Amino acid sequence: MSGSTGSFSESVDRVARAIERADAVLVGAGAGLSTAAGFHYSGPRFEKDFADFRDRFGITDMYAGGFYPFPDDETRWAWWSRMIWVNRYACPVGRPYQDLVRMLRGREYFVLTTNVDHQFQRAGVDRSRLFYTQGDYGLLQCPEPCHQATYDNEDLVRLMVRDQRDMRVPSELVPRCPRCGRVMVPNLRCDDTFVEDEGWHVALGRYQDFVAAHESGSVVLLELGVGANTPVIIKYPFWRMASQNPKATYVQVNMGETIAPSAIADQTVLVDGDAAEFLRELRGRLSGGENTDAA
Ligand SMILES: [Zn+2]
Repeated sequence: MSGSTGSFSESVDRVARAIERADAVLVGAGAGLSTAAGFHYSGPRFEKDFADFRDRFGITDMYAGGFYPFPDDETRWAWWSRMIWVNRYACPVGRPYQDLVRMLRGREYFVLTTNVDHQFQRAGVDRSRLFYTQGDYGLLQCPEPCHQATYDNEDLVRLMVRDQRDMRVPSELVPRCPRCGRVMVPNLRCDDTFVEDEGWHVALGRYQDFVAAHESGSVVLLELGVGANTPVIIKYPFWRMASQNPKATYVQVNMGETIAPSAIADQTVLVDGDAAEFLRELRGRLSGGENTDAA
């Protein structure tokens, strides 16, 4: 495995040059990008909206709450509606997402993400250039699942947040599968019951087409905030694409944890730093596209 080379500023310059001369940019974005945007699952953001759940159930952060065995459906949906509201609907669009989407406009690009917070769509990414593999807070599915479809939840989540009392939603608001009547769950991949709906498969196909179209050309593989927990979706495929394409540039931006195989060291730029700062700098150094705040 190879280590990082060059200063932060030199790395930004190198990536900017690679993007300017590239035929295409493939972005792979993980949880670290939303962390860099300030959307922390613990600390003040958690305390502000979930102190009651912390006091009663001992839940210490938003991630852990997703796995808590709540006593009933009304309580579980009080948790989830608040979780979804805070992270999908009520929060702002993060600056690093805005910077990234603006610098991609006008270029040939595709975004592959494991994030479920809908930030790319809200930042204005072209939806035909996005594949969100792990689901979306804004969608519901049957838990079985008895059919492969997802359902928008905004109106229902708004009501559940508004009408919940003492950490319970009214029973009539608990979402039920329109076909089998089971209590629905968020469309988030945690096991093999995850629903891959028609839109998911269309996006997968577009991603595969993009990869095939650029497997031998000058392409930048821009990996942002992808940790070591689920490397099989973004990190390993990006390593493989770089190793099979000498004209590819592989960029990895991650806080406190950068690693790449030594076989692709000459094509690799490792940036151990803040993805928000990196994208702000990078956007400032790229010409063309929509690179002004007024855009
Ligand atoms: Zn069902």
